[in-house]
Amino acid sequence: MRYHDKLKQYNTKRKREKQMAFQFKVDADELKGPQPVPAGVYTVRLKGFKPKLSKKGDTTNLNPQVEICDNPLFEGKPLFTSLNSAIPSFINDFCHSFGLPMDNQLGEGGLDPQLPGDWDGDETDPSTWKYTGPLLGRTAQWEVVEGTYQGKPKNEIRCFICTVPNCASEYPDIRHSTNMVRE
Ligand SMILES: [Zn+2]
Repeated sequence: MRYHDKLKQYNTKRKREKQMAFQFKVDADELKGPQPVPAGVYTVRLKGFKPKLSKKGDTTNLNPQVEICDNPLFEGKPLFTSLNSAIPSFINDFCHSFGLPMDNQLGEGGLDPQLPGDWDGDETDPSTWKYTGPLLGRTAQWEVVEGTYQGKPKNEIRCFICTVPNCASEYPDIRHSTNMVRE
């Protein structure tokens, strides 16, 4: 066989080896859907929000996007909570769990308390909202429990743990919820 024929044969074989069939594998446990983490207190980091009108369309779910951090077993695993606008006390609890009070926390001067930071987008369409502010990248401690949704196991946030210094004396009227899970 001439040299260039040998070379051609070699290259064809090599190409075939490179294009060998392979299998698309998934994790056997994850096959059952996202698996909940065991109940406990987790450190989470805020990556942003994906706000959306609720199904009825009369309230907004802020849908904070958080993932577990400082945890070798569950590093990067997302946790979900809707943070609905109809329950302002939970929004306050959420904010305090990142160690920050609400802006205008005491509602002085007739102004309402608000999450620190700004929102861009069409005010009437929450899906366009984009948050920038001090909560981004901050960490919080959340207590998580295991519940079920439509027969499948899932995590629920039992409470956002307040880390605002002197919260009880600075804001004596605030009662943080210790159990947000609906019975
Ligand atoms: Zn607090």
